[in-house]
This record gives sequence, C-alpha cells and structure tokens, in this order.
Amino acid sequence: MKLESFWQATAPEFTGAASTPLPAHADVVVIGGGFTGVSAALNLAKSGVDVVLLERDQVMSQASGRNGGHCNTGLAQNFATLVARVGLEEASRCYQAFDNAVNYVGRLIEDEQIDCDFRRCGKLKLASKPGHLAGLRATAELLRKGVDPDVVLLSKDELRTEIGSDAFHGGLLQLRGGQMHMGKFGIGLANAAARAGAKIYPEHGVTALTRLNGYRHRITTTQGEITADKVLMATGPSNIGPFPWFQRRIVPVGSFIVVTAPLPEAQLRALLPQDRTYVTSLNIGNYFRTTTDNRLVFGGRARFAVSNPTSDSRSGDILKASLKQIFPALERAPIDYCWGGMVDMTADRLPRSGEHDGVFYTLGYSGHGSQMSVWMGRVMADLLAEKRTDSPWQCDKWRPLPGYYGTPWFLPVAGLYYKAKDRFC
Ligand SMILES: Cc1cc2nc3c(=O)[nH]c(=O)nc-3n(C[C@H](O)[C@H](O)[C@H](O)COP(=O)(O)OP(=O)(O)OC[C@H]3O[C@@H](n4cnc5c(N)ncnc54)[C@H](O)[C@@H]3O)c2cc1C
Repeated sequence: MKLESFWQATAPEFTGAASTPLPAHADVVVIGGGFTGVSAALNLAKSGVDVVLLERDQVMSQASGRNGGHCNTGLAQNFATLVARVGLEEASRCYQAFDNAVNYVGRLIEDEQIDCDFRRCGKLKLASKPGHLAGLRATAELLRKGVDPDVVLLSKDELRTEIGSDAFHGGLLQLRGGQMHMGKFGIGLANAAARAGAKIYPEHGVTALTRLNGYRHRITTTQGEITADKVLMATGPSNIGPFPWFQRRIVPVGSFIVVTAPLPEAQLRALLPQDRTYVTSLNIGNYFRTTTDNRLVFGGRARFAVSNPTSDSRSGDILKASLKQIFPALERAPIDYCWGGMVDMTADRLPRSGEHDGVFYTLGYSGHGSQMSVWMGRVMADLLAEKRTDSPWQCDKWRPLPGYYGTPWFLPVAGLYYKAKDRFC
C-alpha cells in the first residue's frame, strides 16, 4: 500500500514552473497553488494582469491534489439546517452558488481542453440509519420548493437499483453532481495558467507579509522578496505562514482516503450500478466513488486527527473496516493507496471571502470546495482586476472562534460528541 494520493501519483507532470528568479514586483501576488490560487492566476493572466503565484510546496500538493474526487452540487452542510438558520431564500442562493460553480468547472475544462474524466454522474446521499430518511425527506421537500426541483428521494427498496449494499435505508439523489480526476484537472489548470502568462513559483513559502500602503505589500518568501500592488491569499487552512488572523477563524481538520486495486468490472457494477458519487448521512461518515480503471475511492473523517503518514495509515485501518461493513464482498480487496489531507473548516461550514488588513482572501470551503475554489479563484481574479466589485461569501464581521488561536485543542472533544451523536441519533 502506497501512502500517497492516487490523484497525485497518476497526474501528468506540471511543466509550467517559472524558470527565472523571483521578480522584484508584480501587479498581483497569489499565495497558494491549489485550485483557488491557480484558477485566480489563470484568470488574472487572461485579463492581462502581471501575476506571480507563490506555493510553499508543489502545485496541487495539498487539499486540491488529495481529496475525494467529488465535484458535487449542494452545500457542505445540511440544507434544512441552513434554511432554519438563514431562511429558504438565502439558503437557496448558497445552494445555487455551488450549482453555478460546478457549471464553471465544466466550462473551464472545455475551454482549456483539460483531459480529466469530468462527468455529471449525480450524487447520492445515503441514510445510514432508518431515522435519517426523515431528515433527507425534509431536505428534499425544501430543495424542490427552493432551488433544485430535480432531487429524488429513494426508499430502501428503490435503493436496490442504486447500490449493492444492505447498509442503507434510503437516499437523496441530486442529479447534477459530478466527479473528475483531481490530479489531471489540477495540473491541467496549472499548465493552462502558466501558458496564459502566470509566473508560478513552487517551493516559495511565504514567511512574512508587510503592508506598505493601501493594498501594496512586501512579501517575504523562503527564496527572496517581492512587492505587489495586491495580494490574494489562497492558502486553504492557512496553518503555515504569517496568517494569525485567519488561524483564529479556520480550523484545519483531517480527512482520509483509501483506494482499492482495480476490481473486476462485473463486481464493481454489481455494487455501484449507476456509478455516481456517494456520501453517507453520519456525522463521521464516508464518501466514495469509482475510478476509470475500476478502483473504489473510499474516504471519511475516520478520526479527528491531523494528516501525516502514521496518522493516515491508522485512519486507513478505520476506513478499511467501514468499507467492509458497507461492502462485505470487498473484505479482501487489496488497498493500493492511502492518504489524508487537511480540510479548511469554518464554524458554519460556509466559505468566506473578502479583504482583511489590505489582503484579499477566499477560503474555508469546509471539505466541499473542488468546485467553489475554482469558481472563487475566478471571482477574486475579476475583483482584483477591477472587473467586479463584490464577491459571494463576503463577510464583513467574521468572528474568531472563542479560545482558539490556531491549535484546535477541542477536536478530540468534538470527535467524541459526533461519535455519540452517530451512535444514538
Ligand atoms: C481528504 C480531503 C477530501 C476532500 N474531498 C473533497 C471532495 O470530494 N469534494 C470536494 O468538493 N471537496 C473536497 N475536499 C476539499 C477540496 O479539496 C478543497 O476545498 C479545495 O481543494 C481547496 O482548494 P484551495 O486551493 O483553496 O486549497 P489547497 O488545495 O489546500 O491549496 C492551498 C495551497 O496553499 C499553499 N500554502 C499554504 N501556506 C502557504 C504559504 N505560507 N506560502 C505559500 N503557499 C502556501 C499550500 O501548500 C497549498 O498548496 C477535500 C479535502 C480533503 C483534504
């Protein structure tokens, strides 16, 4: 079993790294070479802006290259819960934003001719407990009323044509969800950004940000300094670097994944005949999908822990047990890949964008950002190029989490709470 991301291991090579030393100045410096940063750099370059992207590691080395491979419509959090908090109209606006973001990913793939196995397969949310079906029914009714008339509620019996497992009690089908090979997409996007004129510097971690005046900053990296008229932070969890304000607002939470060896085609089709993306309804639940070479990609929160090789492998053992529970026929399926990554979680699981202390930012996708990060890269590029004046998820009063200064001491407690909820509710 390789302790690395299947997407990264099977992605094409990034050929667009800048070959010249860091320039003294750029119109815009983008910090972070994941989907957000690279999409922003591509769109800025296409608008004729002189843009430099600084990445501390390699492009697509964090969440964007280490995720579950779903590019789904819908929100990270339960729609009914959001309706209760902000009302149907505002919740529908948030939901619609994710629909639009998936559409944008599809258009971008076509425009830039990125070969990444993108397809609209639909997303099925599976009720892990009989009682969870009532919640899915309430969500389906609100979605039909508000924003997604095509959602389908499936009973336990109707699920038989969807999944070869007795573990579930019904499901909610959102037909517009998609999936893609995240490594092929991300590297394709980064190569397109370089072709458009963005100067991309891997292994240039940002260590200090000094505000000069207005939006102008001096940015210190591990390999020299640069000044910029504007700076966009696209660092995901932002847990490494001079970002203390964000480190009080974003909680990095681990999520983990295993990938089987290629399975016999007939076996896989019997288990997942409609070949969609799947998520379960538990708080510490699972998400899965197949690959074009007939593997099963199976992920979940597993433990409330950070991602590193030892932690990933321990989480992998938990995931293997869940995989066996859901699909007993895969008990002996060999596991080829196991990895983890850090999710940039906000308290309400909604993204945030805006400007703080002269620095523009967009982050906090809360484990549901493969589409929104790409779209927000575009939005922020337009904002910085002065083609628009507003951004979705703009938050003028983003409060810090009480008692939190960057070390999420409360995660083990949260883990116990959600485990108990999954057991008893
Ligand atoms: C295990 C896992 C599974 C997931 N599954 C899904 C899924 O199936 N569907 C979905 O929609 N979403 C999923 N997500 C979330 C999704 O992958 C992210 O929301 C999205 O990739 C965020 O992109 P990003 O560019 O904002 O962040 P990232 O991809 O994390 O990129 C941020 C970049 O900033 C760099 N950086 C950080 N600090 C500095 C610094 N000081 N200087 C320079 N560079 C810096 C990092 O090295 C990194 O490359 C998952 C996430 C994880 C971790």
